[in-house]
Amino acid sequence: MSDFETIRYENPAPGVARIVLARPDARNAQDLSMTYEIDEAFKLAGADDAIKVVILAGDDPHFSSGHDLRGKSGKTMDDFEQVTMWGAFDAGGAEGRLSREMEVYLGMSKRWRDFPKPTIAAVQGKCIAGGLMLAWVCDLILASDDAQFRDPVIDLGVCGVEWFAHPWELGWRKAKELLFTADWFSAEEAREFGMVNRVIPRAELNEHALKLAEQIASKPAFALKATKLAINQAQDAAGFQTGMNTVFAWHQLCHAHNMQMFNLAVDPSGLAPSVKGRTDARLAPKK
Ligand code: ZN
Repeated sequence: MSDFETIRYENPAPGVARIVLARPDARNAQDLSMTYEIDEAFKLAGADDAIKVVILAGDDPHFSSGHDLRGKSGKTMDDFEQVTMWGAFDAGGAEGRLSREMEVYLGMSKRWRDFPKPTIAAVQGKCIAGGLMLAWVCDLILASDDAQFRDPVIDLGVCGVEWFAHPWELGWRKAKELLFTADWFSAEEAREFGMVNRVIPRAELNEHALKLAEQIASKPAFALKATKLAINQAQDAAGFQTGMNTVFAWHQLCHAHNMQMFNLAVDPSGLAPSVKGRTDARLAPKK
């Protein structure tokens, strides 16, 4: 139906669109292509009046291992059509990185979180760091019983991922514990925090997500939109967006600190062996 390379856009039932992360060999890590293709898919679903609900899923075995720091595709921001009006992606100092992360992380996540139709994340296997961002922007999260979650970004010398929803998703104290320790947490724990709506046997996850989407799609479209935005705005009134914007500045300060200390945007002691020592486009200092 489309020429997407890193995702699939499907219509599994009337009124339902499904965006499937389709880089299973890379554990559905989100490179720039995938990020922009997800945004494009949301635009398709938004513009299609027949679509009332969107499922966000990932090809097995893992929902998403986070952002693709290796940038294997070799593509840069110039290869994509900008979605925010931020610009200055190639600027030096802290400005370029802030601008890029404002566009592809904070900006995109805000767009997807406020996408006006209900969204359901169907999460299986591992969901790490940037994977959490993808799940968290959805309205409902279904997790397979073997799903595992983790934000280990503190190991890289940064205070959590760019979409800092942790206090809201995990609760204040658990957010501190799980960020300080970078520990894994289970689907059942996530359900107890209120982050996950339902825990589903792995083999039934996709079918369950589709049934739930069809149930929601049977409701009046405009009332669904109004209800979604009513809840999001209640969350915003409680400080959600304000807190997110403030922490984004802390996040950028961490990157700037690492640049001064290590000449890298992250603390290299926390890099995975497969990444350590490489000077890829995202991590290397801008000239
Ligand atoms: Zn960052």
